[in-house]
Formats: sequence, C-alpha cells, structure tokens
Amino acid sequence: MPRESKYLTRTTANGRTLRIPVGIIRGETPGPQITIYGGQHGTEYAGIEAVQRLFRETDPADVTGTIVIALAANEESLVNWTQFAPTEPEVKDMMVELAQGSSYIINCHGGEFTELMHPYVICRLLGDDDKDALAMRMARQFGVGIVSISKYRGEPDLAPGAPRPAWWLWPKKSLGDELRIPEITPEVGEVGSRDDTIMHGGIVNVLRDLGMLDGTPSNHPQPRIIKDRYWLTADEDGIFFPLVDIGEEVSRDRQLGIVRDYFGNTLQTVTAPADATVMNMNVGMPVRAGGFLLWLGTFE
Ligand SMILES: [Zn+2]
Repeated sequence: MPRESKYLTRTTANGRTLRIPVGIIRGETPGPQITIYGGQHGTEYAGIEAVQRLFRETDPADVTGTIVIALAANEESLVNWTQFAPTEPEVKDMMVELAQGSSYIINCHGGEFTELMHPYVICRLLGDDDKDALAMRMARQFGVGIVSISKYRGEPDLAPGAPRPAWWLWPKKSLGDELRIPEITPEVGEVGSRDDTIMHGGIVNVLRDLGMLDGTPSNHPQPRIIKDRYWLTADEDGIFFPLVDIGEEVSRDRQLGIVRDYFGNTLQTVTAPADATVMNMNVGMPVRAGGFLLWLGTFE
C-alpha cells in the first residue's frame, strides 16, 4: 500500500481515548524512513497545514524510502483550541511508536494563537559527530537561516543568580535524544496563520536533500546560530502593550513594551537587556505575574 491512512489510539487510565491520525507514504524506491510530526501543539497551524499538504500532495512515485506523518499529533489540543498543551504520556507513547525505525525526525512547531514567531529551527545535538552533522545539515537545508542549538547535558554550570537557560536547550525534552535519531524542530508560523509556505517548503527541501524526494534541493548558506537569549516576563498581572515588531533588531535599553493596569498606570516598562533580535512575542493582552512577554536572541 503506497499510501496508508490510519489512527493510532491509546486509552488513558480514566477511559479517554486519545488518537493520532497518521499518514504513511511508502516510496516506490526503498530507502530510509523519516517521521514528521505536525500539531504537537494544536494551535500551531502552519505545521499542521504543511504536514497534511505533504501527505495529500506527495506522489509515492517521487519518494525514496518511507515518510511517516503525524497529521495532528495532539488531537485534543487541536480540536479544543488549547494553547501550550502538554503532551500527555499516551500521546508521547504514540509519538515514540511513530519514530521507531526512522533515521530522521522533523517535529513542526511555531507560534501559538497568541504568539508572534520569527522563523528559526531548533537543532537537537546528540553528542555523536555524524548524527549531529546530519541534524545541522537538516537545520541548514530547512532554509530559514537561524538555528538554535540544543546542547546542554544535565544541569548547566551557572553563576549564582544567573538565569537558567530555556528548557528547550535540554535534549531530554526531545524525542530525538531519547531515540538517538537526528531531529530538527522548525519554529515557523504564528498567531493562527495557516500560511504553510515556509514550513512546507522547508520540509520538501530537507526531503530532497536527504535523497528521499525527487527534485533538486536548494542549497542554503550556513545559518546564523542563536547565542544568548533573553526571556522576559511580567512583574505582575496586567495588560501588555508591545512596542516592537517580531524580527526587529533592537539596541540595548530600547523600550520593548509596557505592562499597564486597566486604568493606564504603568506597572512595568520592558527594555532590551542587550542588542538583540526579537524572536518570539506574546500578543495576548493579559499577562500574569511571571508570565511570558517576549524573548530576544543574539547571534554567534
Ligand atoms: Zn509548539
């Protein structure tokens, strides 16, 4: 069967059935297997659009090997419009099952409904030179030109009081790390946009570069690597008024936004801690104390 459609299902302890719609394209020419996930976060639409289009439009005659696609990895999050949904253990278990036998993983993410996102790719390093070179090549050939390398092992050695780097720098959060499979996580798309141009184009180019899809890949230059990141949060509950655009390069001390109360009183003026680029920003009006406002990246 060159194209297979099915549901994986699991039943939770309290009797709910969770499922993942899966599309499998078996190429006419034998070769390696790749697993591509869309919708681990169900309001990140660009990835869901892209993987469903990939399954709908890809001709098995053009494929070498097997493409396994989670068409909506976290269905509960998709159908309930749940932002920042956790991955339930049963869903994780199904995602692991889908990666069995694969040589590569692409896990499509992006901005949720309330998030602007400057496109970049998280690259999972496994500490194996060959696999890491392969992951870096996939990240480059995805084509958005900015890569965040996930490289920490265990707790980092931090100066007293220094902020802990973001959770995604820990490979233990990555399926690829658990399974020792080279993985990229594109962070592409934002605020409910269903434009899958960048996501679909990136996946297709990686598949061509891996020799799994007919067509000549575009050759992209080495990406810029994100060095430091500044994760800025609200001091107290309020309404956030951003003053910058996503992707904007800002200088140190530039005003990035203001948190006000309902009556217009300024609770917090958010400023840039360094010269940096606005990578990801909350556009939802309400913020909670300690809640995310935006993060900035600097480049190596
Ligand atoms: Zn996500």
